[in-house]
Amino acid sequence: MIRQIIDVREPEEFSEGHVPGAISLPLGNVEGAIREGTIPRDRPLTVICARGGRAARAAVLLAEAGFDAVVAESHMDERDGALSDAALRYSRQMRLPGVGRAGQEKLKQARVVVVGAGGLGSPVALYLAAAGVGTITLIDGDRVEGSNLHRQILHDTASLGRPKVESGAERLLALNPESCVRAIPEMLTTTNAAALLTDHDLVIDGSDNFAARYAINDACILHRILWIHGSVHRMSGQLAVFAPGYACYRCLFPSPTEGVLGANCAEAGVLGGVVGILGSMLATEALKHLLGLGAPLVETLVTYDALRLETQRFRFGARVGCICSAT
Ligand SMILES: [Zn+2]
Repeated sequence: MIRQIIDVREPEEFSEGHVPGAISLPLGNVEGAIREGTIPRDRPLTVICARGGRAARAAVLLAEAGFDAVVAESHMDERDGALSDAALRYSRQMRLPGVGRAGQEKLKQARVVVVGAGGLGSPVALYLAAAGVGTITLIDGDRVEGSNLHRQILHDTASLGRPKVESGAERLLALNPESCVRAIPEMLTTTNAAALLTDHDLVIDGSDNFAARYAINDACILHRILWIHGSVHRMSGQLAVFAPGYACYRCLFPSPTEGVLGANCAEAGVLGGVVGILGSMLATEALKHLLGLGAPLVETLVTYDALRLETQRFRFGARVGCICSAT
């Protein structure tokens, strides 16, 4: 289908010369025209101006109003290309109800910790960086090993032997140079958790052991930070969200449960795709929380069974005497 060209320059610029068939709609009039319904909706729109800056702003307004609108490709290499690039990069998520420019700005201001740059942390960090989360703190004390590569998609063969946070940060910045990635080459412990997690909006658990999860839990209670837990065992996984004022991880697991949930990937085996699905669920819950979309998954454990392709929900409540005192 032929695209309708919308020229958002001023009328005098338009009268000096324009693309045949283009509609003149100065940037300042775009919002009014959207309200009045005078912009054609029967075909996709291509927005142009002189150098790309105004077209980028107009394209965002139009996309938010539900139009299929893009900036003219000829603007991509021009002086205002950076703005055009940002508008284009996030255009498909900004047109979602409840996101828009305001939501994108929330993501840009957000400070998120990803504990573990492994199987779960990889998709989580990639999706957060791609979505435009402004600051991502990556915490992991391990180096990349050959046995990691079938599931830890932040790293590649050339990363073998390097600290995971270093290889991960490099990959995230290659994906989105706008992100600020803080690489902490340490394991999260009860000793350093409170200091490392403070001053963040959200923590995502991509660790593989109870000690790290208890450390996250206690530090998040202390700082009143919401955190999202995920874990995978063979062909199944689980996730839960722990928010201030609700039951915590210690309410759910008062002590480490050995066996099914206690064993890590190295001991029990795991399929890369299953980790990818759980990691994508964690990233989605994180973005929902940052954007204020949907309902938070508090006091609910969701399990995923890859063999049956089934999810189940289990409700749990606060435990009397727990350190969270959520009862
Ligand atoms: Zn508790």
